[in-house]
Amino acid sequence: MSEKLIELKPCPFCGAHLVPAEALSTRKSTLYLHPEIEGEWCPASGARVWSAQAETVEGWNRRAASELERLTRERDEALKGAREWKSNYLTAVNALSIRRTKANAGKDRA
Ligand SMILES: [Zn+2]
Repeated sequence: MSEKLIELKPCPFCGAHLVPAEALSTRKSTLYLHPEIEGEWCPASGARVWSAQAETVEGWNRRAASELERLTRERDEALKGAREWKSNYLTAVNALSIRRTKANAGKDRA
């Protein structure tokens, strides 16, 4: 590896860092591969980035950033939805228990 070190952002899907494949690299360009983890599947599996191909490096980093932002936004929306659902659920359970308490109180009087 004689060229300058490049900075590759982590995988937007699984967070893995691409690893340099020394054996497949040349003196002028390092091949970075998405690591394969047995039993785990990632949509970016098989991704290859040559350090000497600036557009590939930029493309990977741009995608990594935009995918990460999108996934973060989707996660935040899902969490917000889950919180709202829980709040609505608890309100409904609470209303139901108040109704039951009132119904039981009515029975005691009868
Ligand atoms: Zn990945």
